[in-house]
Amino acid sequence: MNKLRWGILAVVLVVCAALFFGFVLHNEEYTGQEFMFDTLCSITAYGDEAQNAVEAALERAREIHSITNGFSGDSEVSGINSAKAGEKVKISRDIAKILQTARKVETASNGAFDVSIASVVRLWNFDGEGRVPSEKEIAEALSRSGGEKFIMDFDEGLVIKKEDGILIDLGGVAKGYAADEAVKVLKEHGVQGAIVDFGGNILCFGKNPNSDDGLWRVGVQKPFAPLGEVDEENIIEVSEAAVVTSGTYQRYFEKNGEKYHHIIDTATGYPANREYSSVTVVAENGLVADCLSTACFVLGKEKGTELAKSFGAEIFFK
Ligand code: ADP
Ligand code: MG
Repeated sequence: MNKLRWGILAVVLVVCAALFFGFVLHNEEYTGQEFMFDTLCSITAYGDEAQNAVEAALERAREIHSITNGFSGDSEVSGINSAKAGEKVKISRDIAKILQTARKVETASNGAFDVSIASVVRLWNFDGEGRVPSEKEIAEALSRSGGEKFIMDFDEGLVIKKEDGILIDLGGVAKGYAADEAVKVLKEHGVQGAIVDFGGNILCFGKNPNSDDGLWRVGVQKPFAPLGEVDEENIIEVSEAAVVTSGTYQRYFEKNGEKYHHIIDTATGYPANREYSSVTVVAENGLVADCLSTACFVLGKEKGTELAKSFGAEIFFK
């Protein structure tokens, strides 16, 4: 080989190496996981800044967990819950955004979704051993729920209760919002593609480097199957979307051969027993999808489908 050929070969090798390392760096993958919102929250991101981005996104989710966690005495939600009627409770931008969307879905679903169902949810003790409350207890707790019992001023960032003893529970919505905020942080860090999975609330965006067409394939958890076992016949292909599932298998207890799950029919105060076990909503953002998945579960197939459509979302019942 003469010098020219060696030269050309060297240039080709350098170009190939640059392309290869560029590709590898470009596709740097990092997964971070943390137990929050009473579930495993996991983020996988691709790009040069993947690790920093994932850590910052988890930090942001942690922040949202700490303000929405009703079990922690010093959270914002606990501040609202312990306030007396007429007291002006100052709320953060985050809580205001969550409550504003929750209120929209509450109105659109005729109260099937209602964060003030908290008094009823507590009676059932789904987070502990579980117990079946008496009809009297349920009736009393139902009398302490209903969005009309609050004045919410989102511009001023204020919540005022009209009666004492009204509680809120953001369990049906906080994870969706946290996942949205995690995505925002990932994008700010220049991540080129990522999948955020907060216990069945799945958000993805950008390019999936592990698929030829760059799309993400999201499997829906098989009800009552081991965690991670998905329904192969129902794989949802998306480029950027929130795929959120509410199911009876996520949190329930059994008493005298009956299963009692954690999605409450606001009309009765009892678990919403329907002919399906899960509802999956595909929407533009996690906050809306999370409210809708719970709302549509309660509403049933016909009205639930109508509600999802009115928000431009797709819906699947399983
Ligand atoms: P998960 O939290 O398992 O993803 P959901 O998003 O459907 O499931 O939320 C269920 C949680 O929402 C319950 O644990 C409870 O805290 C709360 N909740 C239950 N029923 C309702 C309802 N009808 N409206 C609003 N929140 C509800
Ligand atoms: Mg929900």
